[in-house]
Amino acid sequence: MSSGEGQAVRDHGLTEQQRMIRDSVRALACTHFQPGAARADREYRPPVENLQVLARHGFTGLFIPPAYGGAGLGLMENVLVAEEIARACANTGILFSCTDGAAPRAIAGLGTEAQKAKYLPRIAKAEMLTAWSMSEPDAGSDVGNVQCRAVPEGESVVINGSKLWCTAAQVADLFLVLVRMTPEPGMKGVGAVLVERGTPGFTVGKHLDLLGLRGTGMAELVFQDCRIPADQVFLEAGRMRELLAVLDADRLSGNPTICLGVAQAAFESIVGYLRERIQFGRPLAEQQGLQWKLAEMAMDIEAARALLYRAAMRVDEGRASVVDTSITKAFVNQMSVRVTNEAVQLAGACGLSQEYPYERHYRDVRGMSIGYGTIEIHKNSIAREILSGRYSN
Ligand SMILES: Cc1cc2nc3c(=O)[nH]c(=O)nc-3n(C[C@H](O)[C@H](O)[C@H](O)COP(=O)(O)OP(=O)(O)OC[C@H]3O[C@@H](n4cnc5c(N)ncnc54)[C@H](O)[C@@H]3O)c2cc1C
Repeated sequence: MSSGEGQAVRDHGLTEQQRMIRDSVRALACTHFQPGAARADREYRPPVENLQVLARHGFTGLFIPPAYGGAGLGLMENVLVAEEIARACANTGILFSCTDGAAPRAIAGLGTEAQKAKYLPRIAKAEMLTAWSMSEPDAGSDVGNVQCRAVPEGESVVINGSKLWCTAAQVADLFLVLVRMTPEPGMKGVGAVLVERGTPGFTVGKHLDLLGLRGTGMAELVFQDCRIPADQVFLEAGRMRELLAVLDADRLSGNPTICLGVAQAAFESIVGYLRERIQFGRPLAEQQGLQWKLAEMAMDIEAARALLYRAAMRVDEGRASVVDTSITKAFVNQMSVRVTNEAVQLAGACGLSQEYPYERHYRDVRGMSIGYGTIEIHKNSIAREILSGRYSN
């Protein structure tokens, strides 16, 4: 294959502007984020300062409309930026979604004019970080079982209950929280409120230490007679479908994109390792059995990238679909676990050592098959589309 053809494969039909964005973020992330990635993980410290670097270079609030201080770019640009950030530092990739993830997308898509004007300009500049809070002890995959309650009282709404697994809780300034607003069962009774850090009655609880993504400031939230003004109600009960539809784009540019970036980083690193590591008098990279493993990893990564980019481009063309999102999310999650696990194996004992990045890469992607809808829940939705006849080629 000529080098020109190789370039065409890697570019996936990107425009010149998209390639420029990707290359600029790659350089920025490599210089500023990669050197501190292992430390953020080791110290359980969200590297929020990296968001200021991104903001200074105009890489936050990418999808936020220019009228509210954002760049007004499409999902494809968002995917390219998040992928490059995660390739250097997965924790920064996750924090990036504080400015380009679920909560800002929801506000831009469904917020009142006052809410957009109040929050979006500050989110676009990473002056205000957001978190998305849906899960509770008894409401994981079963979101309709949310028990945290918001009850109207005069000009206010009073919130009581607790939330679990809230990514970025320790650093966020604004929380989009799903709450039960009416006694109707299931999703029908669920709405959403916006709660600012520091509101009396609202506390960010203990840090939750998971296997990976240790620098994302995950915590539980506790509400005890927390009173917010009625205009901080974000969504009345009964509109959850609209909220979930707005979040379709985020399901692509967040979780699976970060998995792709981390898998790419693991792959590149292990190629270098096998070239350097001498066993039986020659580099491990000369063992055909290991070369085939590298080939399999590259095949897996390229297939995942093609799926993700195609899905993002379709969203930008106004052709978003549930099946595209779920197939992409589930496939990229599984690919990233396979690839990072293989990198651990190929590095031998070094693969398990914290002196090398492989164990961190594996830990960072492992939980992504659970967050933002488990693989099984996404497979349920793929199967639903197949059996309803909506899925065809
Ligand atoms: C890294 C990470 C980040 C997260 N960030 C956030 C966040 O920012 N905000 C937030 O609100 N939440 C967050 N979560 C929580 C996440 O949304 C939940 O963990 C997820 O929805 C699954 O819920 P659960 O853990 O209670 O598992 P459960 O729902 O108890 O599921 C347990 C197992 O049963 C399977 N299962 C459940 N129901 C079905 C079914 N109907 N069919 C087939 N299989 C099923 C699941 O796939 C899973 O394997 C995060 C989680 C992780 C791991």
